[in-house]
Amino acid sequence: MGCKPAEPEPKEEAVTPLVIQEEEEPSEEVVTQEEEEQEPSKKDILIAIDPGHQGAHVDMSALEPNAPGSSEMKAKATSGTTGRFTGIPEYQLNLDISLLLRDALTKQGYDVLLTREDNDTAISNMERAVLANESGADVSIRIHANGSESSEANGALVIVPSSQNPYVSSLHEPSRRLAESVLNAYCESTGFRNAGVQENDTMTGINWSSIPVMILEMGFMTNQQEDQGMADEEMRKSMVSGIVKGINQYYVYN
Ligand SMILES: [Zn+2]
Repeated sequence: MGCKPAEPEPKEEAVTPLVIQEEEEPSEEVVTQEEEEQEPSKKDILIAIDPGHQGAHVDMSALEPNAPGSSEMKAKATSGTTGRFTGIPEYQLNLDISLLLRDALTKQGYDVLLTREDNDTAISNMERAVLANESGADVSIRIHANGSESSEANGALVIVPSSQNPYVSSLHEPSRRLAESVLNAYCESTGFRNAGVQENDTMTGINWSSIPVMILEMGFMTNQQEDQGMADEEMRKSMVSGIVKGINQYYVYN
């Protein structure tokens, strides 16, 4: 208390940076600056990412309430779709993209919670929402891919609770803003058709949320171009950078 260290002499302050500059090669200085640009300071924002579904060997057929206090019961989770042309299961695609997204967001200074990091975890849709809620996450982004009887069906879309949702109507507005930001940036980055925002009040993972929540349906695994596109490493980078850009825009950090 009251014993602050003495201020450095002005003379020392002036001399020290000069010595460092003389010792460093100019090329090293450039590298250091680039590294600093790639790793901005912590944003104090926690993003929950939920890779949809789980391995087909995990039995999720038991029932759970579709919403807090609801008597309507739904399966704990479903098994998802499969790439009609690549054979890739949706749960694997969702996990792969979510892991890339975690790394990309972490580089940008976000904190990230994944609801599952492998295909063996038996975590229900309700439990995923509760985990995100209780983690202190600011928003929840649920990663899925679409399937259709028709191979013509294509495009990316997002799903949010409506303003009439009996459980989470207050989440409608921020969820929609987040979802629109992510979808627009995603479609711009990937070239996928923007199939718009859908509202859905029947999904357990949405109804149990207490934070802004959205599902990104990244594309149709039953459409040849999109199934094969989403399996491509370069396209996956574009998908992830689009999602990150959308999140940045939501938080007005760019
Ligand atoms: Zn899905």
